[in-house]
Amino acid sequence: MIQDTTYTSMNYNKITLAFSEVDEQLFLKKYFSDSVFQFRIAFILVIILYGAFGYLDSQVIPEYSTAFHAIRFLFVIPILLIVFLLSFTKLFQKIWQALLLISVIAGGFGISIMTMFAPENYTYYAGMMLVFSASYFFIKLRFFFATIAGWSILLLYNIGAKYYTHTPDELLINNNFFFISANLIGMFAAYNIEYYTRRNFFLSQKLDNERLLVLDANKNLERTVEERTKELLKAKEQAEESDRLKSAFLANMSHEIRTPMNGILGFAELLKEPGLTGKEQQDYIKIIEKSGARMLNIINDIVDISKIEAGLMKIEIHELNVNEQILDIYNFFKPEVEAQGMTISFSTPLPAKEAILKTDREKVYAILTNLVKNAIKYSNTGTIEIGYKKRECDLEFYVKDTGIGIPNDRHGAIFERFIQADIPGEWAQQGAGLGLSITKAYVEMLGGKIRVESQLGVGSTFCFTLPYNAVLTKEIVVNQFAPSDKTELVGKLKILIAEDDEVSEMLIGNTLKTIGKEILKARTGVEAVEVCKKNPDLDLVMMDIRMPDMGGYEATRQIRKINKEVVIIAQTAHGLYGDREKAIEAGCNDYIAKPINKTELLILIQKYFGKQSVINSHSSLRK
Ligand code: ADP
Repeated sequence: MIQDTTYTSMNYNKITLAFSEVDEQLFLKKYFSDSVFQFRIAFILVIILYGAFGYLDSQVIPEYSTAFHAIRFLFVIPILLIVFLLSFTKLFQKIWQALLLISVIAGGFGISIMTMFAPENYTYYAGMMLVFSASYFFIKLRFFFATIAGWSILLLYNIGAKYYTHTPDELLINNNFFFISANLIGMFAAYNIEYYTRRNFFLSQKLDNERLLVLDANKNLERTVEERTKELLKAKEQAEESDRLKSAFLANMSHEIRTPMNGILGFAELLKEPGLTGKEQQDYIKIIEKSGARMLNIINDIVDISKIEAGLMKIEIHELNVNEQILDIYNFFKPEVEAQGMTISFSTPLPAKEAILKTDREKVYAILTNLVKNAIKYSNTGTIEIGYKKRECDLEFYVKDTGIGIPNDRHGAIFERFIQADIPGEWAQQGAGLGLSITKAYVEMLGGKIRVESQLGVGSTFCFTLPYNAVLTKEIVVNQFAPSDKTELVGKLKILIAEDDEVSEMLIGNTLKTIGKEILKARTGVEAVEVCKKNPDLDLVMMDIRMPDMGGYEATRQIRKINKEVVIIAQTAHGLYGDREKAIEAGCNDYIAKPINKTELLILIQKYFGKQSVINSHSSLRK
């Protein structure tokens, strides 16, 4: 047999058939609304029949017909009529079963009286049976009330027949057989009818619930599909966009690297021409320097953005006097701005001792420099203003220009990587489109926000915030080595330059020639180790990391086995995070990134050989 789980899970009282509270209320409501129409029809019919049977009274028992008519027309039918009329009121729903119960008892009681007066007349026993069947099956009285009504009528009949009339006992027993059977049959049948009505209700309710659940699930599904489709479309657009940007970036990058390269190689070639004047030579060298700086800028930007994206960009918090910072930037850019026929001004509203931020000064410098450089790059006339305003808990810096402006729809995009590569014509100037995305990343790293206000043809204002934490205590953490008198080292050191690249070797050689008493050279790691073995009195080794035969790290390890004293400074062209750690781990004392800046290198060396040398203190010398 199939197990009907919905059937077993119906929760009801086995005797009264009632559901638990809320369901019962719902059921009663539904039962009423489904039944009220049938009830009215049934009741009208019952009233008519009850009246019509009055005809029999005068036919079969004329001597009582007046009394019987009085029972019918003055007692029972008025009650039935009142109940019928009440069925049109609002109150009816609450009391209708009780009213029906009263009606049935009144009707049954009326006929019982007639049986008592005329016990030999079977017409009225049949009438009793009709009352039972109307009560159990016809007028929509619920099983429980019909049962009460049925047994009450029977009880009244028995009391009346036994004590107030002369009904013979045999007849009474005989009648009870029929009446009890009719009641039992009516009771069980009505129980079943109501049970299935309730079950129908329960199943349809369950069905409704499930339909709602399915509808809900469907809606959710539709929503999920919609969301997923949107996400996919977005991902697709992003993928296409990044593909487009990548191609544009590569093309732009190739241009950006080739242009300065062209300058460097071209003017180096020109330098070789005989008969150049001193001025021409200087001009060419300046162009070569400028092109080199431009290329270094691009490479630094690429390294920085890679570090940011890899999450390797660190911040170092120190105290920073923003007034000084802004003044520095103003002084630095003033000549360039004025050379372009523009002016530059600055505003530092806070007094010096309140203009202190705890932040990463290198990053703030980079942010401001980037913004001012762009302001110069994208303006031909007018004024550039730099400054800040004090707000509730931060300082809002601004760099304002009267340049070409930025179209509204690009205000967000310009902070994206490589975006410059993507815009046409006059907006695309020299640059890789990385500056603003680095700037934005820095601002956010320092806990601020950046935005742009700009109008095409009028100018742009870039604003960024930095948390203002006016701590007025002196807490300067940075290692600063003031370039002191380098003359103390002149001609003092025995140096080995381990470097496979001839140009780099010449450059370092040149830089170190003043402080070198003797400068030795090695082209490979193996050679470097050999030189160290032969020269235990070496003071300094400038160790390139990438060399044939044996790399700088391995060479350093070998040297450390025989010489723990010699100062080894690693020099690499990678400029990557972790280079310093790798160098120190291999046994180097310090590290410097190429291209090597002469002053930086001398300061670094002085740290180990100067009067106030601070061995093993790792200064951060590379910006
Ligand atoms: P780029 O290296 O190309 O200058 P940035 O990321 O610094 O890259 O800037 C992205 C783009 O934003 C620039 O190419 C330029 O179109 C626009 N832009 C940035 N600053 C300004 C400014 N001050 N005025 C007008 N346009 C600007």
